[in-house]
Amino acid sequence: MSVSVVLAPNPSLLTGPGTNTYLVGDGDDLACIDPGPDEPEHLRNIESAVRAQHGRVRTVLLTHSHPDHRPLARRLAEQTGARLLALDPGDDGAQPIRDGDTVQAGSTMLRAVHTPGHASDHLCYFDAQSAELFAGDHVLSGMTTVISPPDGDMSDYMESLQRVLALRPAVIHPGHGRTIDDGVAAIERYIAHRLEREAQVAEAVRRRGVPTAPIDVVPEIYAAYPEALHAFAARSVQAHLDKLVRDGRATRVEEGDPPRYLVG
Ligand SMILES: [Zn+2]
Repeated sequence: MSVSVVLAPNPSLLTGPGTNTYLVGDGDDLACIDPGPDEPEHLRNIESAVRAQHGRVRTVLLTHSHPDHRPLARRLAEQTGARLLALDPGDDGAQPIRDGDTVQAGSTMLRAVHTPGHASDHLCYFDAQSAELFAGDHVLSGMTTVISPPDGDMSDYMESLQRVLALRPAVIHPGHGRTIDDGVAAIERYIAHRLEREAQVAEAVRRRGVPTAPIDVVPEIYAAYPEALHAFAARSVQAHLDKLVRDGRATRVEEGDPPRYLVG
């Protein structure tokens, strides 16, 4: 299997260096995973990467529908004649692909793995032969995934991490950031990091002792992060608190935006 990456020109706080668009398969049968933002420059870069390997894109695969991953899909599929597959059919002509479905790209067979958490429609794609995982935003490198309720769900996310851990991937190709060469250890670090955050969130809310909105505990827990990220961090804190409520360890005492919680 050959894997090449085309970096989209959309760097930001949330996308890191930009979205990774992957070309997978061989020669005249390539799958393009996550075409990325609908930018003419990015489409040109994908096309020249395909030309450089004398290839042809026959399948366009989406890991999820967020605006840094999906918008170029329709145009790329139209220009190349490729079929477009996504869990959420959307409005761009995608055909449905579901958990366990397989897609052939040359000699490579990719299996779709439903991994809700970052987004409810999130799929990873796994090549069992090489033990390589195309992780979308389920596992990133150099940054953490924002889990933003209600479409983002921390309970689902933790279960989905166990799901990809069970695949024992050697290599992870993330939606943002560099290739991860110690796949299993990286997922274990991810799980440990989330559990540590969960404990910090529970402890910070418990110590306040009054109905607490997610943003109230962000400066303390995310002290090492730039303030520009605090609003996003508050989304993940809310996701942690919603999970704690489900686990019977917190109470949601006020609905609304933002909701407020008590622990202990
Ligand atoms: Zn993304």
